[in-house]
Amino acid sequence: MFNISREVACPHCSVVNCWEINDPQPDDELTCTGCRRFISSHEDYIYGLVKQEVSRTMQRYAHCNVSRDLSLLKLALMGDVSPPVPEMLRY
Ligand SMILES: [Zn+2]
Repeated sequence: MFNISREVACPHCSVVNCWEINDPQPDDELTCTGCRRFISSHEDYIYGLVKQEVSRTMQRYAHCNVSRDLSLLKLALMGDVSPPVPEMLRY
């Protein structure tokens, strides 16, 4: 899930900062309220968020086994067996 709070910990002093402008422009910069050092441009911040989300999503599907999952689905649809629900299908 995206970081909806828009909070960013300063890499220099670990103070939590936040994008407070409603619609930051790509070149807008976040400066630490603790140490006054540059943290990130908004463009780099968004790029980092998207990169993390893509990585998280790719890891989620990295170990899926389509043929095994289809076999389990067929068994479940036949109703003869109640196979264990694969972890990725659990809610
Ligand atoms: Zn700082």
